[in-house]
Amino acid sequence: MNRKASKRVVVFDTTLRDGEQSPGASMNLTEKLEAARALELLGVDIIEAGFPVTSPDDFDAVRAISREVRRPVVAGLARCVAKDIDRAAEALRDARKPRIHVFLGTSPIHRKYQLRKSRRQVMRMSIESVERAKAATHDVQFSPMDATRTEPDFLVQIVEAVIDAGATTVNIPDTVGWAMPDEFGRMIEHLFQNVPNISKAVIAVHCHDDLGLSVANTLAAIKAGARQAECTINGIGERAGNAAMEEIVMALKTRPDDFRDCWTNIRTERLYAISRLVSRITGLVVARNKAVVGQNAFAHEAGIHADGYLKERTTFEIMDPKAVGVARSKLVLGKHSGRHQFRRRLKALGFRLSSDEIDRLFFGPFKELADRKKEVFDEDLEALVEAEATTVPETWRLCGLQVATGTGGMPTATVELQENGKKAPVRDAATGDGPVDAIFRVMERITGVKLELKDYQLRAVTGGKEAQGEVRLEALCGKQTVSGRGVSTDVLEASAKAYLSAINRAVSRTGGAKRAARRPKAAAKRKKAKSGKAKRSSR
Ligand code: MN
Repeated sequence: MNRKASKRVVVFDTTLRDGEQSPGASMNLTEKLEAARALELLGVDIIEAGFPVTSPDDFDAVRAISREVRRPVVAGLARCVAKDIDRAAEALRDARKPRIHVFLGTSPIHRKYQLRKSRRQVMRMSIESVERAKAATHDVQFSPMDATRTEPDFLVQIVEAVIDAGATTVNIPDTVGWAMPDEFGRMIEHLFQNVPNISKAVIAVHCHDDLGLSVANTLAAIKAGARQAECTINGIGERAGNAAMEEIVMALKTRPDDFRDCWTNIRTERLYAISRLVSRITGLVVARNKAVVGQNAFAHEAGIHADGYLKERTTFEIMDPKAVGVARSKLVLGKHSGRHQFRRRLKALGFRLSSDEIDRLFFGPFKELADRKKEVFDEDLEALVEAEATTVPETWRLCGLQVATGTGGMPTATVELQENGKKAPVRDAATGDGPVDAIFRVMERITGVKLELKDYQLRAVTGGKEAQGEVRLEALCGKQTVSGRGVSTDVLEASAKAYLSAINRAVSRTGGAKRAARRPKAAAKRKKAKSGKAKRSSR
């Protein structure tokens, strides 16, 4: 089969592997499973679920996702090291369609400084590793890491050799975001012209955004014949991130004329919802002006634009917002809205919540909000669900908050927190440099969890005087970054909720007592493996 002639572009999602390597983005098992289910519904062809050898958590995630998803291929990453490959194979054992993805640095820089190996040694390791993986799964992917800085002749040799050894997909990664679109396109073409057995494998690309060119490079490669695009939701990933799936998919869909009608299986109308989901579980905010899924992507401000748009949408809009799932109805909910209306609106916004969860949100946070705010907009609902529908156990709950502050005074916060399973709430007070600082200090004292605040952002969810405030923050707990989020019509309360959610996240990571109780075997294994999280490598 001539793969180049096929018009189908396979979508390989690495949100849970490369995306999780974004600083501050680590996800727990429940969150990864939630994302994997959403990726399956989105129509992703391959889910790279993790790098099993790096930690017991990564191993568990790959195993759990292998058991959970049915339609997509599940891939596990491995270096060209026997124990990596064996561990990946073990984690993928229950997958309906497993893929082992082995990688090795091939550029002179990586050979000399990272590997200290010759071309010949790198070649031998690659072949042996593909063969080892092939013995475990039929579906094997090989990536020559830092391919874009590898000598073209060596790249041709290694691609040919790994296909001969059984690789069914060969991925050409621009690991460091070095390539230029025309150059990268020529590189892929060069492989098609010079690798004699290239039609036996799918050629993939994996581009990074260090120069803001990851999507452009991916598209150039598709024009040159690449038929697998590696990407992440919202473009998250190492450093400046990976190519954003929503941008690649919508470029192909919007300009089929420029891509000889290449297509993907992605259900584009789910893109917006999954973008919000990934933002919620990673704590990584999507920039307002982000292409396709940013808050402003379909907003028209300039008078002449707005006027044209109102006369005919296509004057200033090349994509229909509905095609990516942005259905901005201005339907408003309020105090008298029923549970049914609330549920329907959440569904329309792309949230998949259980009946129990809907009840909890409706009778709790929603009623509370509707009491304080006359009109509840879609944005309010999104902020509410994203802040409240957390998958992190609520070890500590906010019962009361009182803040006294003023110019020249001494900001003081009194906080009452309830610990899960304890009878009485705990109350304490503290002063601080400002009211937010005072709140954080007293929470630290009550919970005993020490956080070092790294980032704090406050925004109004909608316009208007009575708009809700949303606080997102990032803090260090020891060496781990945790994120927190809170919304309220009172910005101090939003800050308190955000800080408490970060504390709960930190407790769930380090404590893990509850998780251990439920899964004794995994906990025992985790203990054995100690905390020694193997150094993550990146492609
Ligand atoms: Mn990468």
